[in-house]
Amino acid sequence: MTQKKKIIQAQRVSKIFPILKKTYPDAKIALNFSNNLELLIATILSAQCTDVRVNIITKDLFKKYKSIADWAKAPIEKIEEDIKSAGFYHNKAISIKGSCEAIIENFSGKVPDTIEELVTLPGVGRKTANVVLGNGFGKPAIACDTHVIRLSRRLGLSANSDAVKLEFDLAEIIPERNWIMFSHLLIFHGRNICKARKPNCKSCPIARYCPAAEKPELW
Ligand code: SF4
Repeated sequence: MTQKKKIIQAQRVSKIFPILKKTYPDAKIALNFSNNLELLIATILSAQCTDVRVNIITKDLFKKYKSIADWAKAPIEKIEEDIKSAGFYHNKAISIKGSCEAIIENFSGKVPDTIEELVTLPGVGRKTANVVLGNGFGKPAIACDTHVIRLSRRLGLSANSDAVKLEFDLAEIIPERNWIMFSHLLIFHGRNICKARKPNCKSCPIARYCPAAEKPELW
């Protein structure tokens, strides 16, 4: 990315950020949780699953598994059965149990608060780690989910479709204090207006700053 291009992109971010903030004043994470462990588990469950469904599952799940030891001690088959409706339950059960065991063994039973440590947990990639860092610990983090990737590309903020590369592109053009909120806003905008198949450019409040506005070839 050239310096000039980065400046243009940063300027675009500064234009669209306040508009999206005004449009979605309640933008925040959609997953329900009451501590960082619950957030980590809900985020693992949310892969390829809607946040609404995850919240339905975790309502009972977090009453049943109250401590990190409850997860670590539970047989994998039991966890699988309890999270079945989240899909991909075998891999998710392995990630949840494995992460809890690793947290007990390597981090004194507390969810770690750095990206380097979080990604050492089984099944935890940068996206999940950033969700936990940003929403659990309040640290600057950009969580690149499918909406963030799609909208960043349409808005000309990155040409990358690889989540990690795109995250680093965004980190260069968004002020650090806005990283968490910018991710939430793009997710809200992606769910409401800039949908995957048919973005509603005519009703889009940031269309005048969007290079892909009403250009299907750029969707
Ligand atoms: S103008 Fe269209 S493509 Fe651009 S952000 Fe808005 S809805 Fe998405």
